[in-house]
Amino acid sequence: LSNKVVKNSNDLPIVVVMVPLPAQGHLNQLLHLSHLISTFHIPVHFLGTPTHNRQVQLRRVHDNNSHPLIQFHDFDIPPFPSPPPNPTASHRFPSHLIPSFIAAALHLQRPLAAFLRTLSSKVRRLVVIHDSLMSSALQDVNAIPNTESYCFHSVSAFTVAHSLERKELFVNDGYKDGEITTPTYQQYFPKELNVVSMEQCFPPEFLEFIGSQFRHLPKMGAGKIYNTCRVIEGEFLEVIQRIEPEFRHWALGPFNPLKISKNGGNNKQSSCSHSCMAWLDQQEPRSVIYISFGTTTAMTDEQIKEIAIGLARSDQKFIWVLRDADKGDVFDVNEIRKSNLPEGYSNLIGNQGLVIRDWAPQLEILSHWATGGFMTHCGWNSCMESITTGVPVIAWPMHSDQPRNTVLMTMVLCVGVALKEWQQELVIADAVEEVVRKLMASEEGAEVRRNAERLGNVVRQSLEEGGESRQEFEAFIAHITR
Ligand code: UDP
Repeated sequence: LSNKVVKNSNDLPIVVVMVPLPAQGHLNQLLHLSHLISTFHIPVHFLGTPTHNRQVQLRRVHDNNSHPLIQFHDFDIPPFPSPPPNPTASHRFPSHLIPSFIAAALHLQRPLAAFLRTLSSKVRRLVVIHDSLMSSALQDVNAIPNTESYCFHSVSAFTVAHSLERKELFVNDGYKDGEITTPTYQQYFPKELNVVSMEQCFPPEFLEFIGSQFRHLPKMGAGKIYNTCRVIEGEFLEVIQRIEPEFRHWALGPFNPLKISKNGGNNKQSSCSHSCMAWLDQQEPRSVIYISFGTTTAMTDEQIKEIAIGLARSDQKFIWVLRDADKGDVFDVNEIRKSNLPEGYSNLIGNQGLVIRDWAPQLEILSHWATGGFMTHCGWNSCMESITTGVPVIAWPMHSDQPRNTVLMTMVLCVGVALKEWQQELVIADAVEEVVRKLMASEEGAEVRRNAERLGNVVRQSLEEGGESRQEFEAFIAHITR
C-alpha cells in the first residue's frame, strides 16, 4: 500500500504507541492511560526495555485491569552502569536510576524508528505518546508517514507552568536556570517557591539529562498531554496554553482507574486480596493514616526509626509501606538496601498499625473509607490518587517536582498540611507525631479533610457522563480517530 492509499483508507486502524521513561511513577501513568484508551477499542503498543520490563512486570502483577488490546514490546539494550541507591546522598534524588534513563533514551532510538516505520504502513494513523524525558528517542518521528506524536508531561500542570514562567525549560540548548519573571504563584508564596529551584530539586547530572531531552521538544509534536484535569489545575493549564500557544494541551487525567476513583473514599469493603484490606475493614471511618513515599525513596535507618517512634507516639492507626529500596534496573537480590525497623517495634505498636513490606495496593487503600490521611512524598501519581479519592495529605517532599507539588497541595488546593522540617537531613519523631496529630486529630486537620473531600467529589463528578474531564478525554479520542 502506498502512503496515499493508507491515509485515505478508513478501514485501517488507528493505533497508539506508548514510549514511557523506565521509572515506576512514569510507567504507571502511561499504563493507566493505555487502559483508558483501550476501552475505546483502540489497540495500544506499550514499548520498553528490559529495565522497563521488570517494572511493567511488577505493575502487571498488581494490575487487575489487563486488557487484550494492550501489547507489550521489549527492546534489548546494552548493559549500563547501575550503582545501588544511596540514602545519604546530598540530593535525595534517586541518582542510581539515571544510567538506565540515559541508556533507554539512547538505545531505543533506532529500534523504535524501525518499529514505528513498519507499523505506520499498516495503519491509518499512528499516535505516539512519549514521556517528555524520552524525546531524544523520537527525534525523527515527524518523518514517519501517518504518524503524529504527543508529548506526555508526567508532572503537575502547576509544576510545568511554574517552570515555563521561570524560563527554566526550553531555553536555548535545553535547560538553563531562569531569570524569574514573577510566575503566577511566586508572588503569593515567595518563600516556599524560592526553595524549589531546579538546582535544589535535581542533581546536575539529571538536569543535564532533562536538557538533552527537552531540546528536541520545540520541533516535534501534535500536542501535549497531562495527567490532570481542569477542575483541579485549570488556571495552570491556561498559563501553559498562553506560553505555548503552538501546541494543543490536553488534560486527560486522572489516569488512575475510574472504577476506583468513582467511589472516592467510600469503599467499606474491598475486593482486593492484600492482607492489609482485612485489617482496614476492622477500623473506624477515616481513622487510619496511610504512609508511603513512592517507589524511589531510600531512607536511612535513623530516619526510619524516627518515623516509627513518631507514629507509635501519635496514637493514630496507620498503614506504613516500608519496602526495601531496590536498584531499579536488573534485579539483583544482593543489592537490595534493607529498610530496617527498630528492634522490638512490632511489639510496641500492637494493633495500632501495619507495616507493609511488599507492594501495597495504594489506590485500594486510599479508596477505603477507613483511610483518613496520607503521608506522602507528593509524587504526582500519589497526589492525583489522593485528590481523586478525597484523602487529605501530609506532604513530605524529597526531590524533583515533589516540593512544587507540596505547594500546590497544601497552599493552592488546601488539601493537605506540610511537614515543615522536610528539608532537614533528619526529621525527628516529635515532628512526625505532631503533624500526624494535626491532620488526624485537630480542627485544622478536619478543615483540610473537608476541602479534600469536596475536591474529590468535584473531580469524580467531572468524570461522569457529560462532565468536564470526561468530555476532554472523549474529545481527545475523537481527535486522534478523526
Ligand atoms: N505504588 C503502589 N504501591 C506501592 C508503592 C507505590 O501502588 O507500594 C504506586 C502508587 O499508587 C503510585 C506510584 O506507585 O501510582 C508511585 O508514583 P508516585 O508518582 O507517587 O511516586 P514515585 O514512585 O514516582 O516517586
